[in-house]
Amino acid sequence: MRLTRFAALALTGLLAAPLAPAAAAPGPGSPTAGDPYYPGYGNGGYDVRHYAIDLAYDVPSGHLAGDTTVRARASRGLSRFNLDLELRPRRAWVDGVPASWSRQGREVTVVPVEPLRRGQVFDVRLTYAGVPGDKGRGYLGGWTETRDGGFAAGEPEAATLWFPSNDHPVDKARYDVRVTTDATKDVVSNGTLVSREDLGDGLATSHWRTRDPMTTYLATVAIGDYEIREGTSPGGTPYVFAINEHLGRAVRTSATRSVARTPDIIDFYSRIFGAYPFETSGGIVVRPPIGFALENQTRPIYPGQFFTYGRNVGVIAHELAHQWFGDSVSLRRWHDTWLNEGFATWSASLWAAHDGGAGLTRQFRRNVRLMDRTDGWRTKVEPAPRGDIFDGAVYRRGGLTLQALRNRVGATTQERILRTWATRHRYGHGTTAAFVRLAERVSGADLGPFFRAWLHTPREPAHTRANGFPRSMR
Ligand SMILES: [Zn+2]
Repeated sequence: MRLTRFAALALTGLLAAPLAPAAAAPGPGSPTAGDPYYPGYGNGGYDVRHYAIDLAYDVPSGHLAGDTTVRARASRGLSRFNLDLELRPRRAWVDGVPASWSRQGREVTVVPVEPLRRGQVFDVRLTYAGVPGDKGRGYLGGWTETRDGGFAAGEPEAATLWFPSNDHPVDKARYDVRVTTDATKDVVSNGTLVSREDLGDGLATSHWRTRDPMTTYLATVAIGDYEIREGTSPGGTPYVFAINEHLGRAVRTSATRSVARTPDIIDFYSRIFGAYPFETSGGIVVRPPIGFALENQTRPIYPGQFFTYGRNVGVIAHELAHQWFGDSVSLRRWHDTWLNEGFATWSASLWAAHDGGAGLTRQFRRNVRLMDRTDGWRTKVEPAPRGDIFDGAVYRRGGLTLQALRNRVGATTQERILRTWATRHRYGHGTTAAFVRLAERVSGADLGPFFRAWLHTPREPAHTRANGFPRSMR
């Protein structure tokens, strides 16, 4: 995620809730994934394999009717279990048998007629409806209704406004998204277009599929009037760009020229971080000034406001770095945001240096000065501030940490660390502790004091070679 400078930060932290104990007899699934920062997010007791999301979207009213089947495996015997959804459920089935359900806030509890056995793979189907756009959370994103359609984009949550899920990055799954809407509208989602079928009566159904596991907040769909451009990068990765047709001409031109760098950036990163993890790439440029760009898997979303002052390749390089760091290697806990944002910040600087911009040292000296000016050194990188996991200091100091690591262990070793991280945890998860262990193993250096100074101490690291902080970084 990349915020505009003016985005107001209004995240709130919640108190931790206890986890349900594991038991041999069927019991209730936990209503939380156990994230200390967001105990309301996610659930326990099952592991989602696949989402089949079927939407009917009425553009004039913004009304969404959903019919989603979640295929999951029970990780314990379940008498009931929860899904996260903010729209109103209508009916529920488990393996085709009607099931009862209740709802409290965003928690939907489904009670199957027969308890589920541990290890059982089951299908839970929910129909639901509502106008998701009336629940917009401003800076947090979610579902944004537009005059020509609507789109889903938000972090750390957006999924609850358009499909029922286990809404936490810890549970990845594959997706099939089918949207039926006005046949004159374009529909773009993650992955690859499987089919587009004209139903007559002015309606059409578009079907998109993701090949690789994806976390819920990275799933997106954009419905509206888009100019679609397709092709394949020199390195062989197909791409789909969708540029909203209602953007002003100058912004549209700048946006188009900026996203057009996507294939070059992906091929460049592939040489440094290892093969691009997904089967396709691209991007969606939307019209509303939502205040952030987001690294939706295979298809990042950029609001036109990022291109108001001309070309902006920096934001493209940032969101594309997330395809490796954030999308393929995902967070296990939200307080580790630097593993996404620090990595994307540093990677975008690496691209800029490669693309004729300032060298890494010069860019990071600038960031050190910014840290001074914003009093950012008082912010620990990990854990990220509770209630403000997207604090600018997490981005800047997280990026500086990777540059300091480069200064400490050398460019070749630092890049080998990042490539090993991206490869070993591909389609999985990472934690700060796992990254520190890996960095020590690959470099052969004792980096404990280094990472303590950079990540966990609320003041500027001492200017020592051991801290990777030579004079040139000032
Ligand atoms: Zn980001």
